[in-house]
Amino acid sequence: MKELRYLQGVSTLTLDVPTCIGCGMCSLVCPHAVFLVEQKKALITDRDRCMECGACARNCPVSAISVKAGVGCASAIIKGWLTGSEPNCDCGG
Ligand code: SF4
Ligand code: SF4
Repeated sequence: MKELRYLQGVSTLTLDVPTCIGCGMCSLVCPHAVFLVEQKKALITDRDRCMECGACARNCPVSAISVKAGVGCASAIIKGWLTGSEPNCDCGG
């Protein structure tokens, strides 16, 4: 299966490492393995894999993650994946 990737360098995903308590929820719920938890701290392994679904931020118990979830962008990624074209949601973001 072709790997899903977001447009490079545009993901709004941010992680406040000092606030993270290392519970592992982000890595559990992320469909694209964006997070790795090591020594009780989450790390963003590859921000460009994030499709801004918002699951990690919704499930983080200490609000250490911020992401601007964009349904249109996620749809564009899926459409691009299915059609083999460059993802484009026309959101201007
Ligand atoms: S917003 Fe979704 S795809 Fe992006 S890091 Fe969070 S769970 Fe993973
Ligand atoms: S869900 Fe939040 S607190 Fe838990 S490991 Fe991820 S960033 Fe840290």
